[in-house]
Amino acid sequence: MDFNLTDEQRQYLDTVQRFVGRDITPRILELEKGHLFPFDIIRKAWDLGVLNLSIPESVKGYAIDLISTALIIRELSYGDSGIATSAMCNDLANVVIAMHGTDAQRQAFLGPFVERPLLASFCLTEPNAGSDNSGMTTLIRKDKSGKYVLNGQKCFITNASFASQFTVFTKVGKTSSPFIACVVVPAFAVEPETAEIGSQACREIPLPCGGRIVTGKPEDKLGQRLSNTATVTFEDVVIEEDQIIGDRRLGFQYLTNVLDYARPMVAAIGVGIARRALDVTLAYTRERRQFGQRICDMPVAREMLVEMWRRTELAEMALMKAAFLVQEGAPDRGVYASLAKNLAADAAIFCSVQGLHLHGGYGFMSEYEISKLVRDAQIIDIYEGVREVQNMIIGRELA
Ligand SMILES: Cc1cc2nc3c(=O)[nH]c(=O)nc-3n(C[C@H](O)[C@H](O)[C@H](O)COP(=O)(O)OP(=O)(O)OC[C@H]3O[C@@H](n4cnc5c(N)ncnc54)[C@H](O)[C@@H]3O)c2cc1C
Repeated sequence: MDFNLTDEQRQYLDTVQRFVGRDITPRILELEKGHLFPFDIIRKAWDLGVLNLSIPESVKGYAIDLISTALIIRELSYGDSGIATSAMCNDLANVVIAMHGTDAQRQAFLGPFVERPLLASFCLTEPNAGSDNSGMTTLIRKDKSGKYVLNGQKCFITNASFASQFTVFTKVGKTSSPFIACVVVPAFAVEPETAEIGSQACREIPLPCGGRIVTGKPEDKLGQRLSNTATVTFEDVVIEEDQIIGDRRLGFQYLTNVLDYARPMVAAIGVGIARRALDVTLAYTRERRQFGQRICDMPVAREMLVEMWRRTELAEMALMKAAFLVQEGAPDRGVYASLAKNLAADAAIFCSVQGLHLHGGYGFMSEYEISKLVRDAQIIDIYEGVREVQNMIIGRELA
């Protein structure tokens, strides 16, 4: 086993660290308060080649390995986990096309992302089907002319207000069907320059082949306020055969493949938050003096800093193992992806909450980044499967 990074991986790491240090970290509190979607940052990330990491070489993508992907997402999250979530969700939407689409589908649906900085949405969750997505009611059904038509509503969808393409998981034929399909709905709109995250109105997208998509008012969230989240409603959207990815009965299997890929990425976001919380807390406790000494020199505070570091390091190791196993297609990759996600959520929440405590009253003030990190960390334990679902996956495999 080799823990060294390759030259290419080190290059990616350096590039994204420089970008984050220059364009995100110095402005982060101002950006978050402004509540504007950071399109300039998304565009720069695209220019640098650290967006759309799952696009294969055959479509002129970078075909980046999963260790590099995890490093890139971790570092973006160190800058801001909302921006990292936005970037990751592009890949969630696109990786299923890369894995299971035909060559023609890859060219048609992934090609535009190589040409310009576009956003995509991964549409799985529904108001009444969250952890248990088998209860989804979004449906494709053949109409009288023999064409599939898509109807249904998805909620909490990242990038929804700005997405140019939607990857949708849907039941086939009837809502009680055991089969789900994965369909792609392109909706190439003009990319917005700047847009307010919190107050933008709904978006209605009439589709040239029939039907429309309506995105709801962006959600006003506790944390990750630089990512966009909204409902997406599909109304009589005509789906051509070439918009169905792979076999229309195998959507659950494709979903498992996407989630195996996604969970290490969520873990990377969690590790990024944990590292940032540790670093800002170290910086603060080295400066702040009470009882004639630096806070970081007080034994109880130092013990806490060591515990924050320990959990971050463990989560990082689990992340790298999961990324490696998913890349190798190892049979036990799902268990390690779930383990990494839970350890990273634990590290992010622990480090941010304890880091805030070590800042004392200042930590409770919004001008200290640690208060933002506490808000951001909570979602790591929830999206892409809540903690209990990850434990269910691990338990099923063990027992
Ligand atoms: C900011 C944000 C971005 C998101 N982005 C996307 C996206 O881009 N695409 C997308 O499809 N979805 C997205 N989601 C949805 C997210 O994946 C779901 O919120 C998540 O899967 C949980 O589903 P739920 O909210 O319906 O919670 P529920 O399933 O209702 O769970 C609520 C609670 O019930 C308990 N629980 C649930 N199941 C079990 C169980 N089996 N055993 C024990 N306890 C259980 C847990 O305590 C859990 O926290 C996003 C959510 C947020 C908040």
